[in-house]
Amino acid sequence: MFIKYYNPNLHYAQNGFRYNNYTYFLKEKFGDRVQRISIDGGFTCPNRDGTKGTSGCIYCNNRSFSPFIKLKNHSIKSQVTAGFNYFHKLNATKFIAYFQSHTNTYAPVKKLREKYFDAINFQNIVGLAISTRPDCLSDKIFELLEELNKKTYLNVEIGIESVYDKSLKWMNRKHDYQTTVKAIEKLNELEIDVTGHIILGLPTETQNEMLGMAKELNKLPMKFLKIHHLQVIKNTPLATIHKNNPIKLFDYDEYLKILSNFISHLKSEIILQRVFSDSPIDLLIDPIWDKKSPEIIMDLQKFMRDNDLFQGKYYL
Ligand code: SF4
Repeated sequence: MFIKYYNPNLHYAQNGFRYNNYTYFLKEKFGDRVQRISIDGGFTCPNRDGTKGTSGCIYCNNRSFSPFIKLKNHSIKSQVTAGFNYFHKLNATKFIAYFQSHTNTYAPVKKLREKYFDAINFQNIVGLAISTRPDCLSDKIFELLEELNKKTYLNVEIGIESVYDKSLKWMNRKHDYQTTVKAIEKLNELEIDVTGHIILGLPTETQNEMLGMAKELNKLPMKFLKIHHLQVIKNTPLATIHKNNPIKLFDYDEYLKILSNFISHLKSEIILQRVFSDSPIDLLIDPIWDKKSPEIIMDLQKFMRDNDLFQGKYYL
């Protein structure tokens, strides 16, 4: 049973949370626990196949966000089945099929359609989440997404990463912030729920600029946000840069502080799907915090409580 809301403006801040938590959104929407099943659709990325670049974004090693059930090259159906069998044993009964690896709108529309429909036609799938770049959404793809949105619950996840073009350039994203704004506005016009994905701790930004990013994000018609802290992952261009010229990364206490402040600058309508990165430890170079996810969440709640911070506190 849920305990009272912390603040009536924060509808999904329950059980002591001082920000809107995605878990409570899902529980309210679907009336039950909902588990995401990560799928590798076998797509690639324009920043890797030579269309925009070959080396990718400097922090990207797709192994760090690939499905934990290693079924690459397996059919969508077999991946969803494996995820279902795994989570069903843990008492999950409802699932969102999550196209997570690489750029999940980067293929001919016919191929995309087949894969998305293979996923949503599976029993107990209550929705679809599609992660992509803002520059990989053509008119035909928007039409397909609009159709899907009428058939199932759809959540499109856009890699914003930063609102500053200087940072996007440093990360080798090969798109600018305006492209992101246009993509999110168009998805909103189609009444599709959008998640923005950002990184805190880029060496191109001061802490004031990081907090300023919240102000800019508040202007976007975006329902959900995923916040990640910058991590250096093995076999990435960033790993080489960091080895030759170490980058200042957040230590644990610094991150709790900036994250709490950042959340306090967000408007109260945004729902947070994630508040830190969680890359596999065998791939992680830096920063090593040696903390498990529940501990980070508890420490964040405590820091916010001790400092009387809450989402929306500094939103003007
Ligand atoms: S982060 Fe995404 S857009 Fe960048 S290289 Fe990796 S898959 Fe491509």
